[in-house]
Amino acid sequence: MAQSWGRKVIHSARASEDDVQPSSGASKEATAVYQNAGKAFALIEQHRTPPDPQAYALWYAYAAGEDAQVVERVDQLLANKTTLSPYDIDSIYQELLLPDTGQAATQSIGGAIEKEIESVLEIIQQSVSTNVTYQASLNDVETRLPDASSGGGLASLVSRLVSDNRRMIDTTKELSQGLSDSQKQLATLHQELEEVRNQCMRDPLTAIANRRAFDDRLEEEISHAFASGGKLCLAMADIDLFKQVNDNFGHQTGDSVLKMFAQCIKGNIKGHDMVARIGGEEFGIILPQTDVVSAYNLLVAIKSELKASEVPVEGDPTRIASVTASFGVARLEAGMTMRGLIEQADKYLYEAKKAGRDKVKAQGL
Ligand code: GH3
Ligand code: MG
Ligand code: MG
Repeated sequence: MAQSWGRKVIHSARASEDDVQPSSGASKEATAVYQNAGKAFALIEQHRTPPDPQAYALWYAYAAGEDAQVVERVDQLLANKTTLSPYDIDSIYQELLLPDTGQAATQSIGGAIEKEIESVLEIIQQSVSTNVTYQASLNDVETRLPDASSGGGLASLVSRLVSDNRRMIDTTKELSQGLSDSQKQLATLHQELEEVRNQCMRDPLTAIANRRAFDDRLEEEISHAFASGGKLCLAMADIDLFKQVNDNFGHQTGDSVLKMFAQCIKGNIKGHDMVARIGGEEFGIILPQTDVVSAYNLLVAIKSELKASEVPVEGDPTRIASVTASFGVARLEAGMTMRGLIEQADKYLYEAKKAGRDKVKAQGL
């Protein structure tokens, strides 16, 4: 079923290939690139996904068919529905298409930590061998002591003991200075590693958690809820007619609206609740230990606060932009998977949009 859907899609996407054929003489690879680009645009159109770079990258990879994992994931999703949600697109993009810069940074810091640990081990090794030499010298003095009857012999043994002892003190000082330098260096590297890890989990625009952090946390909360028998609700929020905000007030004002909405949600949740930007103008809100009625009431409060908020238009503070958002709420039920819970919340979000937007739709309410 998934396969035939995929094939049908690519086939129909080919109808537009003629428009994007390169001029004669272009290499085979260039022809393939043009053809796949044509297919990618046709797929965007056919599945009504937003024509943004992520969606384009995804459909291009799907049309090129070189990454079997991408094709399989898209076919799986299209087996049950006709389009891909921003969550689907962002998931596939982040997991399968995005070059992992965070991982590269982590690896380089990891390399520096390894080097520093090597130098600590060297210091310890030096300290051990210095101790062994000193011990040998002491043993030697001990065996010679009974025979050192003459004043001269005794004096030379004592002077050797004193100079060995001084050398031992100097070396110990150097080694402990080296250890303390390494300790400081390791602490700095550890902090850098934490920062990189944090950046990988944060949305750079709104500074709230990103989809990667959202997935990790939701998985955790689902396991915890099943293990403890606790409640868990998930809300999906999507700004209404956001494209118009960009069209009317400019992209920068659109960005300010996204930041304001993120702060509005953040200011209303507490404890173990979590808000994350899932992609575009869509946000996920994880509400552990929360029943549907409480979740519904919280989202109605957020919805009202958002509606009353005003964002000054970039470059023209005499104008203000305001937006509404739609919300879908699902509760975790026995046997549900993370994907199932997200799809359920997405379903209610879709209902809220269908009912005229600026609404909260929740399971059972
Ligand atoms: P709906 O009520 O049905 O959700 O309509 P909509 O216009 O909000 O939805 P649509 O998916 O058609 O448009 C979403 C828009 O969000 C299109 C895209 O340009 C915009 N967008 C996505 N990410 C960003 C961003 O980071 N900044 C800005 N300014 N706009 C963004
Ligand atoms: Mg929207
Ligand atoms: Mg949207």
